[in-house]
Amino acid sequence: MTALLYRFFSMASKGKILIIMSEEILNVSHISKSFSGVSALNDVSLTIKAGEIHCLIGENGSGKSTLIKIIAGVYEPDEGEIIINSHHYSKLTPIESIHEGIQVIYQDFSLFPNLTVAENIALNYQLERNKNWVDWGNVRKIAQNALDRINVKLNLDALVGEMPVADKQLIAISRALLQDARLIIMDEPTTALTQKEVSSLFSVIKDLQKQGISILFVSHKLNEVLDISERTMVLRNGQMVVDADASEFDTKKMVYYMTGHHVVETAYVYEENTSNEPPLLKVENLTSRNNFYDISFELKAGEILGVTGLLGSGRTGLALSLFGVFPADSGSISIDGVQVKINSIQDAIDKKIGYVPEDRLTEGLFLDQEIGKNMVVRIVDDLKGGQKLINQKSLQLQIQDWVEQLNIKTSSSQLPVKSLSGGNQQRVVLAKWLASCPRILILNGPTVGVDIGSKAELHEALRVLAKKGMGLLIMSDDIPELMQTCNRILLMRKGRIVEEFHREMVTEDELTHKLVEA
Ligand code: ADP
Ligand code: MG
Repeated sequence: MTALLYRFFSMASKGKILIIMSEEILNVSHISKSFSGVSALNDVSLTIKAGEIHCLIGENGSGKSTLIKIIAGVYEPDEGEIIINSHHYSKLTPIESIHEGIQVIYQDFSLFPNLTVAENIALNYQLERNKNWVDWGNVRKIAQNALDRINVKLNLDALVGEMPVADKQLIAISRALLQDARLIIMDEPTTALTQKEVSSLFSVIKDLQKQGISILFVSHKLNEVLDISERTMVLRNGQMVVDADASEFDTKKMVYYMTGHHVVETAYVYEENTSNEPPLLKVENLTSRNNFYDISFELKAGEILGVTGLLGSGRTGLALSLFGVFPADSGSISIDGVQVKINSIQDAIDKKIGYVPEDRLTEGLFLDQEIGKNMVVRIVDDLKGGQKLINQKSLQLQIQDWVEQLNIKTSSSQLPVKSLSGGNQQRVVLAKWLASCPRILILNGPTVGVDIGSKAELHEALRVLAKKGMGLLIMSDDIPELMQTCNRILLMRKGRIVEEFHREMVTEDELTHKLVEA
């Protein structure tokens, strides 16, 4: 029935054109593309119909962005054909792509930070039509109309540079609409958005769909794809693995198609230490004004405790405070039952607290350098200080120890890091942070932007560390991740702990709902 309702509609600005729902607007046919002899896409085909929400998923480097750039006319394919609105192209210029109604919203949005919202939305439109002259009186009106089309209210006179990412994205979408977009392509649009912003982006996408506009949504976040997709295509190593109705996918299948193998994670089982010894870490009434308040919890050796909350809930502030970056104003911290002062990072390190900052697991490696050297880069200074000369032998032993403990798959620690798979590279970064032998390890968003396969491997490494007696604190809003790794999870809201969950007592869905509740 709805399909019938949507069957006909007229594009507001080109009143005469009728689009039929089942009409194909884009047909990418047998496209191949190499960069200096290395294949990025191999015989990939994709069809998008009017008003369809199509998702494109694949691990990093699988060719998603390359495919988009070919559709946008940025890259010329080596082979294949692109058919848009029944026009055939063996290569396409960016202008032709735009004139065919294709708009790409890249991750940087290509907006002008020093212009206002209205100017950013309407200027291209004005310039295109009037060449050298801008009808300033009209700019605000045009911009307002574009924002109205996606039911969004923004201050037209605000400078774009100062606006949050989510608003910039809406501005970019409105601007695309003014170019008579029939297909809007979004490359990983949710990377920098909070859960709430993702939901509002999704309602905008559904609104666009009602106006007959097609969406190609590129992502590697599977729960989002399950939420929004009508048709899903999976790329792996530049090849199309599957393109099918979204109803045929579940998370397991998507992971399988993306990685080529089954990724099975078993949740962490914490065996409670029944001895009477004091907890490894005890935090009481810790408060940092304007940040977090009255935080109390215990972390035992061998536990993996999750701390979740939306952006601004205070979880990062808490992590930084425990690591001495921003010491708390009041409250107390005890280790092994002895109260300690953590007023600086050095205090934290002396107390054997380690901190892995957000995003650190995806960067910070010297790819051309040896695996072993990358691991010890943080402690070389310590070693030098004490002994003047680095004791090569003890260094080698330590490196070998980490390679074994973290099960890094390599024939030699003297090979460059770039010879390792993504998951093994992640372990090298972890080793780098572990080299200072922490007893308590705080990880902030440890797998943001990490592929599914690598993520599972890293989670396993964390479970192994806990099994050996380390206490881990994971700050994350990735609920599946917390469910896989933690035995307990604290929920923070507005700087306070509002609830505590034992992993076996809560489901992923329940926790996700709790997280986004206002
Ligand atoms: P994804 O967007 O899925 O992460 P990309 O399309 O960016 O993947 O990359 C696919 C492959 O093509 C990767 O191996 C990448 O290194 C390579 N590649 C992409 N763009 C270029 C380029 N301009 N020059 C050389 N290699 C590139
Ligand atoms: Mg990409």
